[in-house]
Amino acid sequence: MKLVFATNNPNKLKEVQALVPSHIQLLSLENIGCTEDIPETSPTIKGNAIQKAQYIKENYGYDCFADDTGLEVDVLNGDPGVYSARYAGEAKDSNANMDKLLDNLKEKEDRKAQFKTVVALHINGKLETFTGICSGTITVQKKGNKGFGYDPIFLPNGYAETFAELPLEEKNTISHRAKAVKQLVTFLNN
Ligand code: IMP
Repeated sequence: MKLVFATNNPNKLKEVQALVPSHIQLLSLENIGCTEDIPETSPTIKGNAIQKAQYIKENYGYDCFADDTGLEVDVLNGDPGVYSARYAGEAKDSNANMDKLLDNLKEKEDRKAQFKTVVALHINGKLETFTGICSGTITVQKKGNKGFGYDPIFLPNGYAETFAELPLEEKNTISHRAKAVKQLVTFLNN
């Protein structure tokens, strides 16, 4: 079975391909010739995931799934949330995003945060969504060079290492995206 995963992020593709059974072959946006930026104009994470999946179905005709993720920080009332990618500006620069967040949390004791991923699946004319959450805290400095995005400053609960210090296999047992994708796989298997 071939299914489009609406991403061109090689890190995400690698994470998700490792989670889906081998009979499901994932096609990236590049594989289907989609090179434009897909609109992400919803004020919610779920809305953006749905918007991306619907865009591919409507414009390219493929059944597909899309994900959208946000980092929600308690003391910042859930920010950067749906605006995580552009927190420090349109350049979507991960280092600048982390620097801004660390700066906004300077001297804050409560550093609780959660990653939230919503996966939207458009299949056989129907839409399904799956949500995964991973709780943790924001560190005071960046640590590790694996992963991507905010991984170097996110310490998942119960771990002494940031997502960027953990091997991918370990991140994939506990991450927000893994939790949402596991529900997607269960749905596809049924
Ligand atoms: P997107 O909605 O998946 O494009 O992600 C929104 C923002 O969250 C981007 O800045 C990503 O780099 C970041 N992000 C998404 N997933 C992860 C993750 O698993 N770890 C760290 N940062 C992530």
